[in-house]
Amino acid sequence: MVVNQLDFSIKNSKNILLVSHINPDGDTLGSMCGLHSLILDNYKKQCDMTAVSQIPNVYKFLPYIDKVKHISDIDSSREYDLVINLDVAAPDRCVEAQVLFNKAKETINIDHHKTNPNYAKLNIVDPQASATSEVLVGIAQKLDWKISQKSAICLYVGILTDTGSFKFSNTTSRTLEYAGKLLDAGVCASDIYQKCYETNSKDMVLFQSFCINKAEFTNNDKIAYTIVYKKDLEKFNNNGEDFTDGLTEKLRAIATTEIAFVVKELNAGTSKVSMRSRTKDIAQICTALGGGGHTLAAGALIKATPQKAVKMILNEINNKNLC
Ligand code: AMP
Ligand code: MN
Ligand code: MN
Repeated sequence: MVVNQLDFSIKNSKNILLVSHINPDGDTLGSMCGLHSLILDNYKKQCDMTAVSQIPNVYKFLPYIDKVKHISDIDSSREYDLVINLDVAAPDRCVEAQVLFNKAKETINIDHHKTNPNYAKLNIVDPQASATSEVLVGIAQKLDWKISQKSAICLYVGILTDTGSFKFSNTTSRTLEYAGKLLDAGVCASDIYQKCYETNSKDMVLFQSFCINKAEFTNNDKIAYTIVYKKDLEKFNNNGEDFTDGLTEKLRAIATTEIAFVVKELNAGTSKVSMRSRTKDIAQICTALGGGGHTLAAGALIKATPQKAVKMILNEINNKNLC
């Protein structure tokens, strides 16, 4: 069984690195800190953890988050015995950390994206799982790992955020069963909800209203999108908070919307698209644009200015006759 191979690899590795994906969210960070905590409690081993981009302020409350090193603070010539990627849908999603992954003696890919190409030596990828953290609760159960309150908090954050607080279609009875286990292990649901969703700054809320206010609607309002420019983020004093968190879902929440997307301007000629739907398989759109994801929540990095990226996305949707 794959979980026994995971157990074997952890037992036989001295130096372990846990890796999260670019533009980290609650699931990649919750899974990474959660696995760090599980390995510490159950194997008495410390792992290194790395992030390739800034950690959003909202997740700074996660246990062990202060141990996460930026990739630039890890010697790139280092050879780890074991590298475990968490919630990393494709190798390039961990950017500079790929070097360390490629050099490691053993590699493990724990994930839940259906577009994951099983790129590691050992792959534990379950597209039925709502979150990578849900996959980890299953692993913990199978290997009879003790789940401490700290581990439970991390894993609960992963599940809570990837299910949009247990309301997206990826929420199953298993999701709720596992969330229940985490509550039994000492998580306070209201406390974690408030930490994840009720600590937005005034600037962020005003920024999101601004983005919604200038949203564009096409295909008889079936497609809703908005563009986030760097200069606007600066105007609203963006400072490490993920100002676009939940923005795409707000456009999807309009009754007429079939596909919603947000295009965010990154550095020189690169844009990030974040796409959501209630009914259409949009993973195929984002895969065609060089990204990937889930059926109803997907994304891609596009080498184009935001306006060009919007054209490419609309072309892709229209060519596939999706709406
Ligand atoms: P986001 O819109 O960034 O929240 O992403 C939605 C879902 O698609 C998440 O599960 C992401 O992990 C996944 N995703 C986003 N961008 C990519 C990409 N470039 N490649 C593969 N999966 C992605
Ligand atoms: Mn993620
Ligand atoms: Mn995830």
